[in-house]
Amino acid sequence: MLDKISVVLIGTSHPGNIGSAARAMKVMGLTNLVLVDPACEIDAKSLALAAGAADVVTNAKIVKTLDEAIADCGLVIGSSARSRTLEWPQLDPRESGIKTIEEAAAHPVAILFGRERTGLTNEELQKCHCHVYIPANPEYSSLNLAMAVQTVSYEVRMAFLETQKYTGEKIINEYPRAKELELFYEHLEKVTTQTQFINKKHPGMVMTKLRRMFTRARPEQQELNILRGILTSVEKSLEHRDK
Ligand code: SAH
Repeated sequence: MLDKISVVLIGTSHPGNIGSAARAMKVMGLTNLVLVDPACEIDAKSLALAAGAADVVTNAKIVKTLDEAIADCGLVIGSSARSRTLEWPQLDPRESGIKTIEEAAAHPVAILFGRERTGLTNEELQKCHCHVYIPANPEYSSLNLAMAVQTVSYEVRMAFLETQKYTGEKIINEYPRAKELELFYEHLEKVTTQTQFINKKHPGMVMTKLRRMFTRARPEQQELNILRGILTSVEKSLEHRDK
């Protein structure tokens, strides 16, 4: 699903930002980087800042126009540091992450990021189905390009992980049945009475409190087996002692 998503950087002018953006993507599981008419070369600085994501940089697709970059995409989201005057469907990063993941199941999705100084043009923004705005400090809401990529990609990953929760076999721990628990409590009471921890004449609330504790802990089947084993070992050593 994540490989249907591309991050499109338009007119980037700092090689370092390309590298940092690649790193921001890869840590969130995104690897398709598209550079539209970059205003700089990919250089050593890009690779240095990409660190372990140098492959994302070297595999980046470089195209001349935005139209080429988004030609086969079914959903295009444009990120913008300002909510522009022009009315356009607007998402916050969380909504954008969810929509990206929902639609990536059906068709390629592109998320656009603009130039460091001037962002995306109105024309570019109008090629988008919707816009995403990171609700930053209104007095200074312009994130560094790679950090904007990071924030938006993080939400894509969160939405992706959410879908993973419900797929595949969910491992449900095996818990003992009520009957087995009762047998355990009987056993526990018997042994602790034998060791005289519980005074038969004045048992008090110990068993109730232990029950409450074990209910809270909700031992799994294997754990209950261990507890039973411990009790049996105590009984055995009592037998030895009494001989
Ligand atoms: N001065 C430019 C900001 C460019 S920042 C402007 O005002 O438009 C470079 C890119 O990072 C932006 O084009 C956008 O894609 C992204 N970006 C930065 N801050 C953002 C924010 N708060 N919300 C969404 N995208 C943001």
